[in-house]
Amino acid sequence: MEIIFASLNDQETRFTLSGADTSFANAFRRAMYAEVPTLAIEYVRIYDNTSALFDEMLSHRLGLIPLITEPGMFVRETECSCNGTGCSGCSITFSMSVEGPRMVTSGDLISSDPAIRPALDTIPIVKLEKGQKVVIEARAIVNTGKEHSKWQPVTVCGYKNYPVVEVASNCDACGLCIEECPRVILVKKNGKVGIADGRLEDCSLCRLCEKACLNSGIGEEPAIRITSDPNRFIFVVESDGSLKVKEVMEGAARFLKNHSETLAQELEQVSGVTFE
Ligand code: SF4
Ligand code: SF4
Ligand SMILES: [Zn+2]
Repeated sequence: MEIIFASLNDQETRFTLSGADTSFANAFRRAMYAEVPTLAIEYVRIYDNTSALFDEMLSHRLGLIPLITEPGMFVRETECSCNGTGCSGCSITFSMSVEGPRMVTSGDLISSDPAIRPALDTIPIVKLEKGQKVVIEARAIVNTGKEHSKWQPVTVCGYKNYPVVEVASNCDACGLCIEECPRVILVKKNGKVGIADGRLEDCSLCRLCEKACLNSGIGEEPAIRITSDPNRFIFVVESDGSLKVKEVMEGAARFLKNHSETLAQELEQVSGVTFE
């Protein structure tokens, strides 16, 4: 199995995963969405809220603010020695006190630990008119996207199969498929159609080129064929800012490895067969 990065920074990446099947690619995608722990606000104590939003809606918006998380810095409250009552090992507190007229934003949350803060300071929460107030305390805990989407560390995480474009020798370079391709993948090369340099990965597998070729009167079969490689995938992942994209990928890989090892151990116990 191999991963080759086309681009990688803290917020987003595009990479090719090779030597894996669809079930692994999908498990990796799901693990990045749902199994990598992050922080999010779960408990809100409202001292004053005279804004236009109900307390529940205000709390919901607070919960959706991505918080910069250091992997492994907190344990889940269910696994903490405080039994979920809240301590510095499993949670972090925020306070906020704002009076209108102005927009309340994520930057108004004051953290009890300066290292843990909203990923962005400009996320709008509620607009206050003159004299309206919001005074709250909040506690964020670690959990995963499987429990609630507010703990998902990614906003985008998807893949597509790697495209394969084949052109038969009966292509007469009429160019109809080139005109039809919405992604500008195809060009004329050496008397037939070919792939523009560096454009193959942008093919959406829409197969409009095949239809255009058939409409050219070429016969029963198009001269251009679009298929996909069943063992190669193009991934695009974007972080919500709570974790670096690389940390999300590492967390997902660690989750899959741990679960595979647990499964293998349990199967060994049941069957007596050793799994390598
Ligand atoms: S499948 Fe669609 S995007 Fe890909 S080459 Fe054909 S027309 Fe273009
Ligand atoms: S439409 Fe068919 S024959 Fe015409 S250039 Fe494309 S592949 Fe070749
Ligand atoms: Zn605790």
